[in-house]
Amino acid sequence: MKRTEVMKAAELIIEKIDAVTYCDDCKKEYATVTYGRICPYCKSEHTWLVRGNEFVIKEIEAADEEC
Ligand SMILES: [Zn+2]
Repeated sequence: MKRTEVMKAAELIIEKIDAVTYCDDCKKEYATVTYGRICPYCKSEHTWLVRGNEFVIKEIEAADEEC
């Protein structure tokens, strides 16, 4: 029981750590899953995904379309 809970928690943590966004304005990195595309430090939208799992990358690319 407890071992299963630990494994689930570990999976969630890994996903959160994987997705990191870099802010081009204040040159900081932050957790993509927590703040999305808006930088929590300077509220800039000039951010790009440094690394993340494929699911997160797909979501961000879809929302980042510039026509
Ligand atoms: Zn910023």
